[in-house]
Amino acid sequence: MFDESFDVIVIGAGHAGCEAASASARLGAETALVTINLDLIGQMSCNPAVGGIAKGHVVREIDALGGIMGRVIDRTGIQFRLLNRSRGPAVQSPRAQADRSLYRTEMRRVLEATPNLHLRQGAVVDLIIENNKVIGVEMQDTRRFGAKAVVVATGTFLNGTIHTGRRTFSAGRAGEPASIELAESLRRLGFPVGRLKTGTPPRIDGQTIDWDAFEPQPPDEKPVPFSFATEKIEQPQIQCFIGYTSERVHQTIRDNLHQSPLYSGKIKGIGPRYCPSIEDKVVKFADKDRHQLFLEPEGHNTNEVYLNGFSTSLPSALQLELLRMIPGFEQVQIIRPGYAIEYDFIDPREMRSTMESTRMDGLFLAGQINGTTGYEEAACQGLMAGINAAFSVQGRNAFALARDEAYIGVLVDDLIQHGVDEPYRLFTSRAEARLTLRHDNADQRLSPRGKEAGLLADSDWERFNKKRDRIANLRNALDFTRFRRSSVEYASISQILGCDLGDSITLSQLAMRQGSTSELIYRLLPGEMRSEVRIADLETALADSLYSGYIAKQRLATERVNHHDALKVPESFQFRTISGLSNEMVERLERARPQNFGQVRKIGGLTPAAVSAVLVHLTGYSAENTAQN
Ligand code: FAD
Repeated sequence: MFDESFDVIVIGAGHAGCEAASASARLGAETALVTINLDLIGQMSCNPAVGGIAKGHVVREIDALGGIMGRVIDRTGIQFRLLNRSRGPAVQSPRAQADRSLYRTEMRRVLEATPNLHLRQGAVVDLIIENNKVIGVEMQDTRRFGAKAVVVATGTFLNGTIHTGRRTFSAGRAGEPASIELAESLRRLGFPVGRLKTGTPPRIDGQTIDWDAFEPQPPDEKPVPFSFATEKIEQPQIQCFIGYTSERVHQTIRDNLHQSPLYSGKIKGIGPRYCPSIEDKVVKFADKDRHQLFLEPEGHNTNEVYLNGFSTSLPSALQLELLRMIPGFEQVQIIRPGYAIEYDFIDPREMRSTMESTRMDGLFLAGQINGTTGYEEAACQGLMAGINAAFSVQGRNAFALARDEAYIGVLVDDLIQHGVDEPYRLFTSRAEARLTLRHDNADQRLSPRGKEAGLLADSDWERFNKKRDRIANLRNALDFTRFRRSSVEYASISQILGCDLGDSITLSQLAMRQGSTSELIYRLLPGEMRSEVRIADLETALADSLYSGYIAKQRLATERVNHHDALKVPESFQFRTISGLSNEMVERLERARPQNFGQVRKIGGLTPAAVSAVLVHLTGYSAENTAQN
């Protein structure tokens, strides 16, 4: 009946599919990764970059659990930057620009080296069902593959429609066919389907750019890797550049909005609020006379440059005309024009926390198909789906993560509880426990879970245990080493911190003083310890102390939030007057018009930080008491 049979089939080798297939195979399930084009495994459809605020946290969580994205980007990243370096560790996040082609090659190499994993090229056109359980897939080329579980990770390909100016055509992304038959099959099976939209900027020819007209953006001197296993970033690092649009560009866009499929009404799907097109930016932020652009080279061996910040679906000729108005782009040539794409997604409220559909046994869904946007959001869903698909075949208990355990838990819970009404991306504000969900402690939080699942390699577990011991020793030293008035450093350090430190203070207490840094604490550690201490470990130990007080307040605030459901929201209440609420949060509140605080808490897509801000406003509690921001 089947040409081949597997335990698990993963459809799609994007960011979700790669993690899913890798996890499932490494857990011992015979796994097939089936995709339209094997040369495009791990293709980055848009920005060649991984990480960023909250997304970088997720990559580290994936790595801590035993996933692969962090290692692949560490080997192929060409510009690493730790974002928010000057702010608290809870909101710092790693980001790296990738060499797009190297990333694909490395991802394929990693997958091909994975035991139990079989790559198959071709388009899946239908699911084979028996007694409401998926038992295989049917390929366009007439092959039939059998499976005990199937993960669908088809990204933007389901009924994908590309728009550039007045032209509209069917595609999964530029140069690749849409998945129309599979989309129809899912609709036929009764899956609740919606439409979303996203877009991408033009890629331009680096040889036609006057680079001197742009401001260089250098990489970090000491690149911080994503993976806890990476000792050093070996790829040569490159510079990116920053530029700006101008009022003339904006006016020309305004004059030509009728040519934008977004504004002419052709595009019906809702786009990602936080990656708006340049047309959207010009209309929605009409008071701004310029918008920032990032010129990001796509790799070491290519002239192609990604123009971050200029996502557009205007006609190609107009894209070129607009770019040439920007100083430095007078001679620029476009290699690939920008475009917008509309695609089907499946309402994720029909999923379990294991990523398995409640509609059909053995069918798991992961990535953009669930209404999310972003490689990292896709990859972590793939990891969860891959683990659970393998577990379901092996009769093992479900693997789930709680909201206070990981950003991955927050994302999955948000999706299945609230669904999406616009492309969902992660933010730190979506997590109640964001002070504890730091990027640097992702391994402390999750590696024991990865080990228990059987995904973490023995060498990684050994490395993790050594690090855990080192940090425990450090915490001990910080709590018990006293810095005394008699120290030769006392005068200089009191001066640096601008205060008298009393007769004796522990290093943990000293670390909490304003102006204190990890370098300063390092200088005061016992001499015999100093030569062995790693600064990254010290930073983690210090962050634990720094946040310990806030964490207690965080818990208190959550409890408080849960006890005010009867509190009335006055009818005339203006949510816009609450400082710190984003436009998205205000819009969601205004749309829902809650009458009491209990209803506020139930509004889909409202972040915990926003819920807390509303409560503070309604009760008059001080912002400090809530410790949420
Ligand atoms: P994808 O990476 O899309 O991978 C899907 C895979 O499924 C592909 O390998 C494909 O070949 C395969 N496939 C599809 N159908 C079949 C089939 N029937 N049979 C076999 N294989 C199949 N994200 C952002 O965060 N910001 C942005 O600004 C942004 N802009 C984007 C712009 C564009 C034009 C596109 C296309 C995407 C953009 N994204 C953006 C989204 C980002 O690319 C996705 O979130 C991410 O790639 C999703 O990963 P995924 O694994 O779910 O799907």
